[in-house]
Amino acid sequence: MTAEKKNARLKIFNTMTRRKQLVVPIESGSVRMYCCGPTVYDYQHIGNMRTYVWQDVLRRTLEFDGYKVKHVRNITDVGHLTSQADSGQDKVEESAKKRHKTAWEISEMFMNIFFDDTETLNILPPHVSPRATQHIKEMLELIKKLEEKGYTYVIEKDGIYYDTSKFKHYGKLTGMSFDELNKYLKGGARVELVPGKKHITDFALWKFSPENVKRDMEWDSPYGKGFPGWHIECSAMSMKYLGESFDIHCGGVDHIPIHHTNEIAQSEGATGKRFAKYWVHGEFLEVDGKKMSKSLGNFYTVDDIIKKGYSWRELRYALMAAHYRSLLNFTFKALDAARGSIERIAEFIRNLSNITEEGPENKGIRKIVDSAFGRFVGAVNDDLNMPKALAELFGMISKINKEIEKGAVKKDDAKYIIDAVLVLDRILGLKLEEFAKQGVVPEEVMKLLEERRKAREERNFELADRIRKRIRDEYGFIIEDTKNGEVIKKA
Ligand code: AMP
Ligand code: ZN
Repeated sequence: MTAEKKNARLKIFNTMTRRKQLVVPIESGSVRMYCCGPTVYDYQHIGNMRTYVWQDVLRRTLEFDGYKVKHVRNITDVGHLTSQADSGQDKVEESAKKRHKTAWEISEMFMNIFFDDTETLNILPPHVSPRATQHIKEMLELIKKLEEKGYTYVIEKDGIYYDTSKFKHYGKLTGMSFDELNKYLKGGARVELVPGKKHITDFALWKFSPENVKRDMEWDSPYGKGFPGWHIECSAMSMKYLGESFDIHCGGVDHIPIHHTNEIAQSEGATGKRFAKYWVHGEFLEVDGKKMSKSLGNFYTVDDIIKKGYSWRELRYALMAAHYRSLLNFTFKALDAARGSIERIAEFIRNLSNITEEGPENKGIRKIVDSAFGRFVGAVNDDLNMPKALAELFGMISKINKEIEKGAVKKDDAKYIIDAVLVLDRILGLKLEEFAKQGVVPEEVMKLLEERRKAREERNFELADRIRKRIRDEYGFIIEDTKNGEVIKKA
């Protein structure tokens, strides 16, 4: 066994091999991961966010395990068509027309909203967020390589296409043979046959701008004026920043049969090397048994949820608490349950922070903490088993709460417990340290805060302001009102 394999801890379900596998990175000590990012033609909904949240947990787990992670997540700002068949409209151009803006303005606007939303949910920013429109040169170079190797053909007045029958193991990610996959796509009417396409699985690498139409986004190329296909973007950008072979490639399950299958055909066709070692796919967020999606109109944005009075933390928790490979049905009841869970953790940390009584170290308590900690870390490293990890955390909270009631937890033990929870929070990303800071707030201030909250609810802002001043002058705490509720700090 190599040292690298011996040190590896994380097991993840690899769609390519259809089993859980130990993640052994190509390069010792570091992991290179690529996640397909948003198409910036509209708001991303909380279904999309579910995907970015579990990818964030994956990255945090790898970092927790001691790896240096290079995380790339692209921005698709051109080339994603409304139809999977290479025949529909460009989503960004279409949205721009509807909104009487240019495609450049639309993509810029929704990209920035997306960045804000991910920041709100405390999703770590990727190291590189490449935009498709800034990598046309790399895409054309890749297309040229594929052309030289005989993978391409031209459909007049349409575009440059990839002949999927030429790639030896086309469709291997789906576990289907070439014929089976062709039948599957035809049968499910997932893709209609564009005139001139040799196989239903063939796809556009480069689309020509339609005659008599001036697109906002189009580029000259050796083949004619046009724009790239969606799949070539991810092949070109991932290989530019992570190399021809890298460790982990992520996306939603919808990417398996077409987008990722085509990325593999392009990248491996061009380089002759294995593209990504582990393919990780997460399930959908649904509403009443249907995928949450823009086209069905059954979606909520992060902003919608916050406006309804939930905090970012509650939303992150609700999206994260289910296993990433299980379908998750979105309900407000689930958000209420998340609120309860967060409050339970917060109360636990606040109570511990308020313990001031000194005493000897309690070995029994430390044992409860250490074993729960170990099982939590074991669970996330076992294919990101978040339901089990959270159950371990709450199991520990119940046990320790009993000890607190008995008065058995002293100051040093309390600090030990809080520190352990905050270390686990490096994986959870819930900013739990904010509750530890709140813990030292005296009981009287907490009461005044409650009165101030009530005053604000009744829109008695004058009284609310007076209470705020009293808290500052008499107790030395400042209150800041944020969109996630008030934050209290030492002045
Ligand atoms: P898009 O902007 O449509 O390209 O999607 C961005 C990411 O969100 C992709 O990884 C999709 O697989 C994922 N996604 C789309 N809809 C959902 C959903 N309802 N639940 C979870 N992930 C989704
Ligand atoms: Zn992609």
